[in-house]
Amino acid sequence: MAAIRRAQSLLSLTKFKTNFVSASYLSLRRFSSSSQNSKQFQNVGFIGLGNMGSRMVNNLVKAGYNVTVHDINRDVMKMFAQLGVSARDTPYEVAQDSQVVITMLPSSSHVMDVYTGRNGLLRGENAIRPALFIDSSTIDPQTTRKISFAVSNCNLKEKRDNWEKPVMLDAPVSGGVLAAEASTLTFMVGGPEDAYLAARPILQSMGRTSIYCGGSGNGSAAKICNNLAMAVSMLGTSEALALGQSLGISASTLTEVLNTSSGRCWSSDAYNPVPGVMKGVPSSRDYNGGFASKLMAKDLNLAAASAEEVGHKSPLISKAQEIYKKMCEEGHERKDFSCVFRHFYNGKDEV
Ligand code: NAD
Repeated sequence: MAAIRRAQSLLSLTKFKTNFVSASYLSLRRFSSSSQNSKQFQNVGFIGLGNMGSRMVNNLVKAGYNVTVHDINRDVMKMFAQLGVSARDTPYEVAQDSQVVITMLPSSSHVMDVYTGRNGLLRGENAIRPALFIDSSTIDPQTTRKISFAVSNCNLKEKRDNWEKPVMLDAPVSGGVLAAEASTLTFMVGGPEDAYLAARPILQSMGRTSIYCGGSGNGSAAKICNNLAMAVSMLGTSEALALGQSLGISASTLTEVLNTSSGRCWSSDAYNPVPGVMKGVPSSRDYNGGFASKLMAKDLNLAAASAEEVGHKSPLISKAQEIYKKMCEEGHERKDFSCVFRHFYNGKDEV
């Protein structure tokens, strides 16, 4: 029922987003409204209508794309169908109707299954319809590269100008449910650059920023490295603020010091973990909303597996993994990941 209500409320929104940020500097590529962004694709398939996906579909519909969806949750599918969005029973059927297919799924195994399973997107590999696949799930770069290779071994049913073979982009996102709803996500994109340029209008309808990260798997690598840095800096900030309290310095005072000194980071100045220090962040609402500890644990597991695969030394991944595993085991898996301040470090609320 919650999923149905969510879909209903999402699709009842009809306001079109018109104000895209247009900027670029250094090697960052951001969306622009240049002629390069004219739409090449109109029929978009979307698989995975969960917290993020349902909102991203809503924004695609609002931007005028013809969207065909699939999810294993039949209730959500029915709801989207009732609201006028085409729903299909299998990924294969979505592929039959789509020039582009986007996936937004929980983990690597789900993505692998949706692409290469019995009724998967790549069934009929010698004559597939979609020219472009975009996976926005957070998964490991190794799986991304395997799937990208499988996609590149397929043939297109109908060739497009200068587009001989289907292509896959990995485009995981930063920004949670609120950013998905407000179409302010940041996409980190790996894969062929010309495919990235072709995909930009679609990404633009769901996000504010995209960063081209290089070849296949580099978007996934960027995402898990970003979240590793975020986990470790949150732990460092929480540890420092809790230690400060034990040494007699209030969290507000120490935050002021950090934010004007070399200890400043996003966790101290924008997402402070101490209840009562900052308004509008998860710590100010009993760690509800935000980025769940279980998602952080998942992303750290991906970082650990990737580091192991390439033989990279990673003591901080191991420690952060251990702490977030403990948070989940102790029942805080749905709480925002900044709850380590209270539940791991036993920090006190600022009164
Ligand atoms: P979710 O669990 O809410 O949604 C996943 C959806 O996929 C569900 O509707 C589920 O039924 C569907 N699904 C699962 N297996 C399927 C299959 N084989 N075929 C078709 N549908 C299938 O997850 P979410 O929060 O929307 O996250 C999606 C991805 O985005 C994850 O990889 C997550 O790590 C990443 N992400 C999430 C957030 C966040 O704040 N939620 C932020 C950034 C990135």
